[in-house]
Amino acid sequence: MKRTITVITLISLLAVSLAHAESRNPIRNEIYAMDTVISLSIYGTNASSATEDIEGEVMRLENLLSVTDPNSQISQINAADDSVEITSEINNLLKDSLLYSIATNGALDITIAPVVQAWGFTEEAHSIPDDDKLQELLACVGTDHVLLSDTHVTLLDQAQIDLGAIAKGYTTDRIAQIMDNNGIDSGLISIGGNAYVHNCKPDGSPWRIALIDPQNTDGYAGVLSLANAFAVTSGGYQRYFERDGMRFHHIIDPSTGYPAQSGLLSVTIITGRGQSGDAYGWDGAMCDALSTALYVMGEERAIEFWRESEFRFDFVLITEDGRMLISSGIEEYFDPDETAGYDYEVVR
Ligand code: ADP
Ligand code: MG
Repeated sequence: MKRTITVITLISLLAVSLAHAESRNPIRNEIYAMDTVISLSIYGTNASSATEDIEGEVMRLENLLSVTDPNSQISQINAADDSVEITSEINNLLKDSLLYSIATNGALDITIAPVVQAWGFTEEAHSIPDDDKLQELLACVGTDHVLLSDTHVTLLDQAQIDLGAIAKGYTTDRIAQIMDNNGIDSGLISIGGNAYVHNCKPDGSPWRIALIDPQNTDGYAGVLSLANAFAVTSGGYQRYFERDGMRFHHIIDPSTGYPAQSGLLSVTIITGRGQSGDAYGWDGAMCDALSTALYVMGEERAIEFWRESEFRFDFVLITEDGRMLISSGIEEYFDPDETAGYDYEVVR
C-alpha cells in the first residue's frame, strides 16, 4: 500500500515537473503567410496543440481574406455583379471596417482596393498610375459603395474591397482566442507589424516589443513593455518602390489616391486586451485599422482623434522632422532608444 502511494507520488511529481519543463520551454515557430513572416513563441502545457490550431487558423484566414487568391471570399465578393451571401464572420469584419472608415472620416477605407491595385501593390507589379486614371478610380471609393446586410453584401458600381489594412490585426484577435482556449500561460505573436502578447513572460515580467526605427530599419526607435496587449505599426518604410529618386509606399490617402504624405514615418497603436467597448472591441483589428488611419491623418489630426474619439488606445508617432510623439497613457511602458536620435515628446 505504502509502496503504491510512493509510486503514485513519484509519477505525479514527474508529471508535474514535465509539465513545468514544457511550460518553460516555448514552442517557437515561424510561418510564412499573409505576405509576411509570422513568428510565435508559446509557453504552456498545450503549447504544441495551440501552435497547430494557430497555424490552421492563419491558413483559414488567408484563404478567406486574401485579395490575390481568386477563391477567397473577398475575391468572390469583388468578382460578383450582384449581392453575395456572406458568413457572420465576414459580416462582422465588414461592419467593423465600415465603422472604422466612418469614425476616421475615410482615412481608412477598404474600398481603396482599385487604387492600391493601380499602384501595383496588390500583385507587387509597381507602376505610377496617371492622374486621370486615379481620379476615375476614386469615383468608386467610399463606404457608400458597400451595401451590407446581415447575410449579404453588394458592391455598387465598380467598387472593390481589400481588407489588407485590418486582416492581420483581426488574425491576432483570433490567435488570442486560441491561446485562451488552450489555456496558454504566456505567448507572443508577431505578424508583420502586428504584435500580440498573451499575459506576461513566463518569469512574470512584461514582454518587450521593439519598435523599428523607420529611418534605419536595422535599428530600434524604442521598446514597449506590455502584457496582454496589442501593438500594431504602420509605416511607409514597410512596403514601397522607388522611381526617379522618389519613393512611393503602400498606404494610400483615399482623399487623393496617392501614397499618404502626412509628415509621419510610422504610427504604432497600442491597446490592452479585453477592454470591450460598446460599439467596438479594443482589439488587434482596431489597432490595425487605426495604425493605417492615423498614418494617413498625420500628426495634428491623429492627436485630435486620440483626444476626441471613443476608441481607447495609445500611440507612438515618428515624424519626418525627427520627433517621436508618445501619448501619455503609454509613457511609463515605453523606453525610447536615444541612439535613434529622435526628439521625444509626450502628448497629453
Ligand atoms: P501592412 O499591411 O504593411 O501592415 P497596413 O495595415 O497599414 O500595413 O495596411 C496597408 C494595406 O492596406 C495596403 O497594402 C493596402 O492593401 C491597404 N490600404 C492602403 N491604404 C489604405 C487605406 N487608406 N485604407 C484601407 N486600406 C488601405
Ligand atoms: Mg493597418
